[in-house]
Amino acid sequence: MDRTERWSNWSGSVKSMPRQIVKPGNIDQLARLVRDYGRDGRHVRVVGAGHSFTPLVQSDDVLMSLDEMQGVESVDTTAGRATVLGGTRLKKLGGTLFEHGVAQENLGDIDIQSISGAISTGTHGTGVRFGTLSTQVEGFTLVTASGEVLECSPERNPDIFKAAQVSLGTLGIIAKVTLRVVPAKRLHYQGNRKKLGDCLANLEQYKQENSHFEFFWFPYTDGVQAKFLNETTDPASKSSLWGDFNKIVMENGVYWVLSESCRLVPRLCKTVCRISTRSIANIDEIDYSHRVFTTPRLVRFQEMEYNIPAEHLSSVVNEIRECIEKYQFRVHFPVECRFVQADDIWLSPAYQRDSAYVAVHMYRGMPYRSYFQHIEEIFKRYQGRPHWGKMHTRTPVELSALYPRWYDFQRIRATLDPQGMFLNDYLRALFSADTPEDHDPSSIPGVSAKGELL
Ligand SMILES: Cc1cc2nc3c(=O)[nH]c(=O)nc-3n(C[C@H](O)[C@H](O)[C@H](O)COP(=O)(O)OP(=O)(O)OC[C@H]3O[C@@H](n4cnc5c(N)ncnc54)[C@H](O)[C@@H]3O)c2cc1C
Repeated sequence: MDRTERWSNWSGSVKSMPRQIVKPGNIDQLARLVRDYGRDGRHVRVVGAGHSFTPLVQSDDVLMSLDEMQGVESVDTTAGRATVLGGTRLKKLGGTLFEHGVAQENLGDIDIQSISGAISTGTHGTGVRFGTLSTQVEGFTLVTASGEVLECSPERNPDIFKAAQVSLGTLGIIAKVTLRVVPAKRLHYQGNRKKLGDCLANLEQYKQENSHFEFFWFPYTDGVQAKFLNETTDPASKSSLWGDFNKIVMENGVYWVLSESCRLVPRLCKTVCRISTRSIANIDEIDYSHRVFTTPRLVRFQEMEYNIPAEHLSSVVNEIRECIEKYQFRVHFPVECRFVQADDIWLSPAYQRDSAYVAVHMYRGMPYRSYFQHIEEIFKRYQGRPHWGKMHTRTPVELSALYPRWYDFQRIRATLDPQGMFLNDYLRALFSADTPEDHDPSSIPGVSAKGELL
């Protein structure tokens, strides 16, 4: 069961050499391992699919994966509830729920993540009447640092529940999750090209009149790709070879070739943006939700994504546009804009505010630091809260000002894990400053003394 190997996240931005990688097969084994590690003073990070861009799961001691703890344990279609093992990947989850006639109400744009990994960073999709995936959680079975198996829900250990709904793997290991599910639904996906100005002028209408609306703006152009998803009772479209070819070869293969061209000849970025805008296809298809929400993302990139109050979206997008044009950043990936309903989860970026999420990407292997740094300054001016799984340079002091329940979270974390078994250097730096005086930005791995991405 134990082995040592190099570990790297999806984007290649985080690498580590854990002393031990373990994959418990059931909760008893998991709890026993945690008790043993606690007794020996070991440090444990738990990994899902390794799709976070920040060093959340970097470990030089134990890296625990719940890949052997996957599957749907029970589905109660009447109550609209499903209990699933913590390591279950979203793709597998979607397929199994579908066999039971139910689905997750909303998803992000890929389904590779594990359910616990997705929840732990507040992964989200889009839709003003939908919260992040963490809001779908009705209860957890958590293995804490003492090896105790703790049930938490709004009724049992409610404070721990609110803290655990977005907790970066620092409160314990989520062994099981009970999710709210909805009857399986078909979605009508309509996609087309619009002008950025028109899209921003009609934001309110697009957001309110569609269940799920998002758009991608291509730098150096006026073009956006708009995506609208709405529930329908119409039958699913026949899957076409062309559709599959388009998703895999056109959206990924051709985009990879264009991206490599930009990496080798960066001044091609503007041309590639124009080509991408012109090739935005009209899409009109119907399928079950778990298949429509997600698409294969085979071209690797680095990403920064921020949550901002929804009402600031147009201003932020306009500022991003000015910034890219002013500094002539060599970027050909679009800026992605989505919408999420407010929630009451302590460390959720959507805490108590209806939100827009804005993401910037850079093809892997191309310089991204200066670009991200300038865009982050814009997010900061609009009370931006970073996505926990994506790159940012925010300090504990800044974060504590952005999250009203920050210290409540710290209190619960310190109570459940007084020895810091579940902390690595990155998280220790993030969660250690109790006052501004304690704060030293250079103590956050990956961030310089000036607070810049290294
Ligand atoms: C191509 C791509 C597309 C993406 N699309 C979206 C998107 O549409 N929307 C969005 O919001 N985000 C998106 N993300 C970000 C991604 O959803 C999050 O970073 C997510 O946390 C990754 O899930 P994971 O299973 O890979 O978890 P990991 O990255 O492996 O871990 C994330 C966190 O979860 C913790 N964790 C994992 N398992 C457990 C467990 N069993 N118990 C307790 N803690 C645990 C880890 O310790 C860590 O802190 C995307 C990322 C990529 C690379």
